[in-house]
Amino acid sequence: MANSKYEYVRNFEQPDPLLPNTWLVVRIDGRGFHKLSAKYGFEKPNDRRAIDLMNAAAASVMKDLPDIVIAYGVSDEYSFVFHKSCTLFERRESKLVTTVVSTFTSYYVHLWSSYFTNVPLSAPMPSFDGRAVMYPTDHNLRDYLSWRQVDCHINNLYNTTFWALILLGGMGATEAEKELMGTYSSDKNEILFSRFKINYNNEPEIYKKGSVVIRDYELVEPKKSTAAVDSPGMAEQESSDAERGISAQLSKTQQEKERKRREKARITVQHIDIIKDEFWQRRPWLLS
Ligand code: ATP
Ligand code: ATP
Ligand code: MG
Ligand code: MG
Ligand code: MG
Repeated sequence: MANSKYEYVRNFEQPDPLLPNTWLVVRIDGRGFHKLSAKYGFEKPNDRRAIDLMNAAAASVMKDLPDIVIAYGVSDEYSFVFHKSCTLFERRESKLVTTVVSTFTSYYVHLWSSYFTNVPLSAPMPSFDGRAVMYPTDHNLRDYLSWRQVDCHINNLYNTTFWALILLGGMGATEAEKELMGTYSSDKNEILFSRFKINYNNEPEIYKKGSVVIRDYELVEPKKSTAAVDSPGMAEQESSDAERGISAQLSKTQQEKERKRREKARITVQHIDIIKDEFWQRRPWLLS
């Protein structure tokens, strides 16, 4: 195989390593999911089956790729964060992006029937595109994730109001769109409450916050005793777990042991705030 007269064509390949020591985010997004959601009759504004399927596919991707530290998903998109020290595929962009996209797509199709029972898939099959972005600082990475979660909130408030006007208010799509043009968040909250008795704050967290996929590691006690508890599951952990952040004093062997423990940890999907400091303070291993 080596040294055939054709081998020179390899020189046409472009090297595409991503910068060292930067957080790598691979974001995938469903192709033409507006149409796909109509084809399979997704409930509007939020089809729970579709979200659960996205989350299951994302959790499987994280299981297969231990270099991923955290993932965040909303609608037909998912962002996968590779640790800044990741050396998978020598950090080659095309390898990383295509591996995430194809692994995610495989699981999405494979798991489809568990979430959409008696709704068989047919061509064109669901597909996803993907891109990689490098973030040089922890701050940039947090801002990226905050950007996606804020986007989730803005879109969900809009969609919830838009579909309430249509499904409960009997409006047409054009009329509903016109009604919402130029409105602020407070106006939408007011429309939902005064016209439809819907308190947006009481909408399910999974729709308001999106989905955060992390390894189920031990939580660090918040510094102040006043910190809010995110969920009942967390409350249990909080009381039983000792304080154990990844301290700078850990030896290399200890650090390696911690890394292995993380890799083995169960993967969980939660619908919580990742914008505030508290999420990161209680999980110092995420950015360590
Ligand atoms: P593109 O190929 O450019 O991404 P798209 O049709 O996928 O086009 P997006 O901006 O990605 O457009 O939006 C995804 C669309 O998929 C949403 O607007 C919504 O209509 C639909 N969708 C995704 N997930 C759900 C869900 N869980 N429930 C209902 N609708 C959903
Ligand atoms: P990488 O992840 O780096 O691509 P790889 O194990 O996939 O590693 P490749 O260089 O892509 O390595 O080689 C693919 C290998 O898959 C072949 O060496 C062969 O062992 C196996 N393989 C692929 N197709 C077939 C097939 N049809 N029958 C038998 N073996 C196959
Ligand atoms: Mg899309
Ligand atoms: Mg999208
Ligand atoms: Mg191969």
